[in-house]
Amino acid sequence: METALRDGFGRTHRSLRISVTDRCNLRCRYCMPAEGMRWLPREELLSDDEIVRLVGIFARHGVGEIRITGGEPLVRPGLPALIGRISAVPGVGDIAMTSNGVLLADAIDDLVANGLGRVNVSIDSLDPDRFEMITRRRDLDRALAGLAACERYPSLRPIKVNAVALRGVSEPDVLPLAGLARERPYVVRFIEVMPLDAPREWTREAVLSGEELREMIGARWPLLPMAPERPSATGTSWRFADGAGVLQFVSSVTEPFCASCDRLRLTADGQLRTCLFSTSETDLRTPLRAGADDDEIAAVARLAVSRKEAGHGMADPSWTYAGRPMSMIGG
Ligand code: SAM
Ligand code: SF4
Repeated sequence: METALRDGFGRTHRSLRISVTDRCNLRCRYCMPAEGMRWLPREELLSDDEIVRLVGIFARHGVGEIRITGGEPLVRPGLPALIGRISAVPGVGDIAMTSNGVLLADAIDDLVANGLGRVNVSIDSLDPDRFEMITRRRDLDRALAGLAACERYPSLRPIKVNAVALRGVSEPDVLPLAGLARERPYVVRFIEVMPLDAPREWTREAVLSGEELREMIGARWPLLPMAPERPSATGTSWRFADGAGVLQFVSSVTEPFCASCDRLRLTADGQLRTCLFSTSETDLRTPLRAGADDDEIAAVARLAVSRKEAGHGMADPSWTYAGRPMSMIGG
C-alpha cells in the first residue's frame, strides 16, 4: 500500500462513500422538495470506468471500505455490474450500499452475486400513510419487500435499517421501528435530522435527539449501552436488556463523532468532499478527464484530505448550510 491519506488532525481515512447518482424515486421531506429538483446532466456524472479508476487510486492509499449511495443508487443503470467491478479492485475489502429499498427486491440477487457485502435500507415509518407523508410516494410495501429480500443472504447480516428522526413527525414511528429490531435480524438506526435538505428548512428544534429517543424507547424496553462497533463508528450501539436485538443512534448533531471520522465522499459528478458539511469540494473529475495519471490524482486527493476540517462545527453560531444537499453529496 502507498502512504495512507492522513489529515492535519492525525485521522487516517479508510472509508469512501460514493454517490452514484443524484436522482431518486422518493422525495423524503428532510432531503428533497416535492417538485423541481434539478438533476445533474448525464455527461457530468462519473462513468463506471471513472468510478472504478478512482476507487483503485483510493484503495492503493488505504481507503478500502466503499459505500455506494446517492440519491437512490438503484436508479443508476447497471449498478450490480459496477459493484462487481469495484469489488474486484485490489485493496477493496468491503462494499456496502445505502438504499431506500424500493427497487431492492428485484436487484438483491445480482448485487450479492457481484460482491455487495452489507446493506442499509432507509425506512422511516412502518405505516403506509405515514411513509407516504414522509417520502411523498406510496411505496412502503416495495421498500419492506426489498428489506425482507435481504434476509435471504446471511452474509448481509446484520441488515441495518436507517430511520431519520424529526420532532413533531417521527414520534409515532419510534416504538414500531424499535420493535422491528426485536423481531427481525435488523439493527435499527435512528439518525438525527441534519441540515442537508435541498429546501433548507432544517431547524435545530426539529432534531429529535438520540438521548430523547433512548428515553422514549427505554421507557418501553430497557436499553443497555454496548461497546462501539469500531473506533470510527458513526453511532452508539444499545441492546435491549432482555437480549432481543440492537439499536444504534446516529446523533451527528447532539453527539458529533468528528474526532474519529475516517470517511471521505465522492459526489456523482466527481467532487471529493472531506466532510458532509464541507463548504468546498475538490474536483477530481477535471484532472481525470484531462489525462492526469494516478499519482497526480492521488496528490490532489492527498492535499484535500490534509486540509480536512476538524469537525462540522454546527455548534458554532456562524455555521451555515453546506454547499450541496445530501442527495448530491451521498449520505
Ligand atoms: N436514497 C438512499 C436512502 O435513502 O437510503 C441513499 C441516499 S440517502 C441521502 C442516505 C441516508 O441519508 C438515508 O438513510 C437518509 O435517510 C439519510 N438522510 C437524508 N437526508 C437526511 C438529513 N437531512 N438528515 C439526516 N439524514 C438524512
Ligand atoms: Fe431519496 Fe434517499 Fe433522499 Fe429519500 S433520503 S429522497 S430516498 S435520496
